[in-house]
Amino acid sequence: MTETGTHVIVGLEVHCQLDTKSKLFCGCSTDYRNDGPNTHVCPVCLGLPGAMPVLNRRSIEYAMRVAKALNCTVLHESEFSRKNYFYPDLDKAYQITQYDKPLAEGGYLGIESDEGGEKRVRLTRIHVEEDPGRLVHMGNAERGRYSLVDYNRAGIPLIEIVSKPDMRSPKEARKFLNKLRATLEYLGVFDSEKEGSLRVDANISIKGSERVEVKNISSYKGVEKALTFEITRQKNLLRRGRKVDRETRHFIEARGITQSARSKEQEHDYRYFPEPDLRPIHVQSWVAGIALPELPDARRERFMAQYGCSLNHARTLTGELRLGSGN
Ligand SMILES: [Zn+2]
Repeated sequence: MTETGTHVIVGLEVHCQLDTKSKLFCGCSTDYRNDGPNTHVCPVCLGLPGAMPVLNRRSIEYAMRVAKALNCTVLHESEFSRKNYFYPDLDKAYQITQYDKPLAEGGYLGIESDEGGEKRVRLTRIHVEEDPGRLVHMGNAERGRYSLVDYNRAGIPLIEIVSKPDMRSPKEARKFLNKLRATLEYLGVFDSEKEGSLRVDANISIKGSERVEVKNISSYKGVEKALTFEITRQKNLLRRGRKVDRETRHFIEARGITQSARSKEQEHDYRYFPEPDLRPIHVQSWVAGIALPELPDARRERFMAQYGCSLNHARTLTGELRLGSGN
């Protein structure tokens, strides 16, 4: 992928569903896989007038586990904010998320670099937010006659993990996601088998030109494909002497391409303001009491020492929780 003279820069924003029993701000069960649409809903997650959110303590504990495992700093005070926009999957017309006071900042995740050694991908922040509902397009999104909406997913707790632009190829991005998935599974806070449990927005640029954001990539393989397509597209533009526009694009999974999204929302368009129905959170003192399990790097080292595994074997065995669990 790397060609002389081109330098690829990738940063990821990863949304992961936390595997709690109930939703982030109400008691609705999150286990709706075998149930019909709109059966796991209540006035809170439907955004009915007068309904008040109550924060799920377990979701904050899970997010804190992730923050500690990824070496982040949990802030003294964090806060929920409203992100205002209208879309049919967002019944309240705002999403409760975190904006200028996230749960945690900084941190890093170690991956195997393209050159073979270990490298640290630095993180900007981790914040907690609620998932919107899900739209089901009858036919396809462009030509379908109508869409259905299912609010069972509305209010499922998510964490968004934002990396710095430290990855240099689609392969490194895939390694980052695999390592992140393994870490979340080891921590017992994430179920990768659940549909849509991990979604990614990717920022990608060729050094010296504008950055493009590719939104809503919903599979691990999709990330590598979307990035590979995008790098080729950007390189072709530059080769022909054209410039890369700073824009948001959508990944069309079935066709393996990215397509310009005409909307150009900026952060200030969302009119974020502090969520008036929830108090600020002070949980920094919990960090010391969080006991982390053995994580992938530690298990890999142990497998090499205890069983004489090669580095590659140990990496494979610890890359997914179910492969190397037990002793
Ligand atoms: Zn509910």
